[in-house]
Order: sequence, then structure tokens, then C-alpha cells
Amino acid sequence: MSLIVFSPHLDDGVLSASAQLVRAGATLLTVFGGVPPGDTPRGRWDRLTGAGSCAQRQVERLAENHVAADILGCSVETWDELEAQYRRRPIDGPDLVRRIRSAIGAVDEIWVPVAIGSHPHHVAVRDLVLTATEDSELRRRVRFHSDLPYSLHHGWPTWVAGTRPDPYLDVDGWMREELVTAGLDPEALVARVHVLDADLRRLKERASLAYRSQMPALGLDPRDRRRWEAFLGYEVSWVAA
Ligand SMILES: [Zn+2]
Repeated sequence: MSLIVFSPHLDDGVLSASAQLVRAGATLLTVFGGVPPGDTPRGRWDRLTGAGSCAQRQVERLAENHVAADILGCSVETWDELEAQYRRRPIDGPDLVRRIRSAIGAVDEIWVPVAIGSHPHHVAVRDLVLTATEDSELRRRVRFHSDLPYSLHHGWPTWVAGTRPDPYLDVDGWMREELVTAGLDPEALVARVHVLDADLRRLKERASLAYRSQMPALGLDPRDRRRWEAFLGYEVSWVAA
């Protein structure tokens, strides 16, 4: 058994799909993990997260990613694509599709973000994997995972945590609309809730906190008990119906 969790950025895979990354044979593959040239001006995200230089920050983030992956016990592969804040050129789609095809050839499960929040690079990674598996039996191996923390913007839908509907907050409807906005048909997907047990919650907590340069800007803080428990308690995935 082998599986790849495609992580658009350093941290996405661990924050969103830890229940998959602790499985035997799991690889965390980050696509936009490249270190920018030293003279690259700091991007918006790096300014927000207090980076001194973007190259140095990316090196720190690569180290954080290795610590997190070691805690979950998965292998790490990181590609050298530059993330949006450092890019001057668009993504070379055909080249990435070729790289994806050679990475997934013998893999049993291929995990991609469902792209809740519609971050362009989350959508791109998902769609490049879908293109790479088009008209192939590999498509049956694709699984979508919810993007965290973006999926928690209003808390979990009622069907995830078994909560009562709030008459003034329709999170179920919000998530359905997020899937549509991200370019998917919710009717063509079957959702699955992964309830994280106490051991996995502890591992996910330690692994997530390894991304210490990112957590404050992501709004993930153990002192915010309600959101932190929601973050550690569940992950959601979908497969084609
Ligand atoms: Zn991301």
C-alpha cells in the first residue's frame, strides 16, 4: 500500500490530511516548495509572517516541514516550484503534469486538496492531478481532502461533528457552495468524515505546531480552544460518486 498526499504549499498536507499521512507507505509531496533567489523581494505573506528574507524563510519552512513529517512518520518529497508570492512566470502546466504522472505511476491512493477557499495553487494542484489521471484507471485512485484551516472558516458542517443546525448559520450550505466555487459538483462526490482519535490528535497537534512560522497567520492557536479542537478533531475527504 502506498499513497501520496499532494500538498500545494509547505504545511497544507499535514494540516489537512494527517489521518492519511500517518498510514504506512505515505509520502507528503509539496509542489510549491522552491527556495526563491536571494534578491527576491518579500511577498505579502512573508511580510505578514515577519520574515526577514524570503529565501531564509523558505529554508526555515522546509525544515519545519521535515520536523512535522517525522512526527507523523511519512516520507517527504518537495518540488522546487516557486509559490505565488515569489513567481514572475505562470505555472508550466504540461511540465507539472509530466512530473505528476511519473510520481503517481505505482501509487495506490493519490490525495489532492478539494480546494475549499479556492486558493489558485490549491486549485492548480488538484486540476493538474486530475489532468494527469484523465482517461486512465489512475483516476479511481484520486481522493480529495478538505483544506485546513480554510474549511473551518465557519466551523464544521453539522454532518462532520454531529452538531445541531444553527438557524442563523448554514455551514452545510456554505461548504457545498465552496465546492461549487472551487469548480466541483458536490452531487458527484461522496464525503467521508475522519474522526481523529486521541493518539492521532496528539500527533497532529505536535506536527502542526512544528510550522511555527505559519500558525499565527493561519489563525491556528491552541489558546483558541473551540477552533483548535475543531481543527484537531476531524478531517474530511471526498471520492467521486
Ligand atoms: Zn496552501
